[in-house]
Amino acid sequence: MTKQEAADRVRELTEILTRLAHEYYDLDAPTVEDYEYDTLMRELRQLESDFPELLEPDSPSQRVQGTASGKFEKVTHAVQMASLQDVFSFEQVDAFLQRVQETVTHPTFTVEPKIDGLSVSLEYENGILTRGSTRGDGFIGENVTANLKTIRSIPLKLKNAPPVLEVRGEVYMPRASFERLSAQQEAAGEELFKNPRNAAAGSLRQKNAAVTAQRRLDIFVFNLQRIEGETLLAHSETIDRLNALGFPTIPYTKCSADINEIRAAIEKIGAQRGDLPFDIDGVVVKVDSLEQRNQLGATAKYPKWAVAYKFPPEEKVTKLRSIEIQVGRTGVLTPVAVFDPISLAGTSVSRAVLHNQQFITEKDIRVGDMIRVRKAGDIIPEVLASESHAPDSLPYQIPDRCPVCGAPAEKDGEEAAVRCFNPACPAQIFRTIVHFASKGAMNIDGLGPAIVQQLLDQKFIQSPADLYTLTKEQLLSLEGFKEKSAENLLRAIEASKSQPLDRVIAALG
Ligand SMILES: [Zn+2]
Repeated sequence: MTKQEAADRVRELTEILTRLAHEYYDLDAPTVEDYEYDTLMRELRQLESDFPELLEPDSPSQRVQGTASGKFEKVTHAVQMASLQDVFSFEQVDAFLQRVQETVTHPTFTVEPKIDGLSVSLEYENGILTRGSTRGDGFIGENVTANLKTIRSIPLKLKNAPPVLEVRGEVYMPRASFERLSAQQEAAGEELFKNPRNAAAGSLRQKNAAVTAQRRLDIFVFNLQRIEGETLLAHSETIDRLNALGFPTIPYTKCSADINEIRAAIEKIGAQRGDLPFDIDGVVVKVDSLEQRNQLGATAKYPKWAVAYKFPPEEKVTKLRSIEIQVGRTGVLTPVAVFDPISLAGTSVSRAVLHNQQFITEKDIRVGDMIRVRKAGDIIPEVLASESHAPDSLPYQIPDRCPVCGAPAEKDGEEAAVRCFNPACPAQIFRTIVHFASKGAMNIDGLGPAIVQQLLDQKFIQSPADLYTLTKEQLLSLEGFKEKSAENLLRAIEASKSQPLDRVIAALG
């Protein structure tokens, strides 16, 4: 790669990663899977290390991601809440063990599951919880004390506590809570959170603590940030002490510097992964001795005494039962694989997007095939390959008619996609209105897909503009609407009139 090519790619990656980070951290609405984000970030870091002159001080690789949102009071952390360096193979874990041993002698390590949640700090004075905050960018977070106090496993008062104590924990949403919340949101026609972590983040940053309380979050405390009046020598000792004080603490295994021992501990956690009642996205390996941690120090970005091993995506083979066609808001026909349910990374999966005809043809995916499915980053499942065809199967062809309105579906110029060009296609009108009302567009609270469908079925609306002439009587005639909910929705529709122009353009785009 020439320097010019590298410079172009660095600029491109910087743009993409900045946008993705904003969606992920500030909007709680990621548009790509974690694994994809990590891959792009790794590519950027590699280029910056190959061509150091291309490294800009404001590169996305140079910041601990996430900024305070302005909704809550800011908190400057007394002790930085650093992020850990990610590694993706046992070779990289071994390299870390070697690096540590170049600086300190006979280190011991702890191996802990990495909870997939949101990092917070809890501060206690004379045993009373005085403040709780999010990590933010690692230096400045948000004061979410009232919301954290709704988490029942967080002690509000400690017995025999030191005068000053600050701990760090990971707030998460147990899978059962996430499933219950998703069911409620679906019934209410609200937009669903993409995964338990985003749900935890969204729930913790609620203005109304009563909402947070309903979300049934939980926490694991995994680090002592600071303590006065006591001297503790090892991380494992601090965790035991915090546990004795009443905190739910992270389980850990102590290991020597032998890679085989550490690998076994990592694999043991990996094997339990699907059975845990919460999501983990990796395993953290840390030097146990606090004195040795000080000796090791940190780079500009990460402590040198720990790494986070990230699990690779999980893959399984299953039978492809059918291919459904979804019609999008711009009329694009998207094929979706429907297969026998398989359990991947702890969740049941039975559908995956097949993108377009080219994707299907290249992999020669046919109905009845045994297909290999991967769930990357524990988020979006994807079909990797066809393993075998059923006898007498035929290559799959996307239908040449829109399955919803029956209009001819055609290729749009050079695009890979096939579209329904009928402007009156009900599927397109439906998706246009759902998009119009969504969070990123006009943000009409309470107007989700289920309600849009009812309004269309009743012929109360045919375009986004019709939303503004809806009456309370019309809403009350719909299933599930009462006086209060009808008034709330009308108010939300009215409020959307004051959205700034760029939102309106996005909504109609
Ligand atoms: Zn159509």
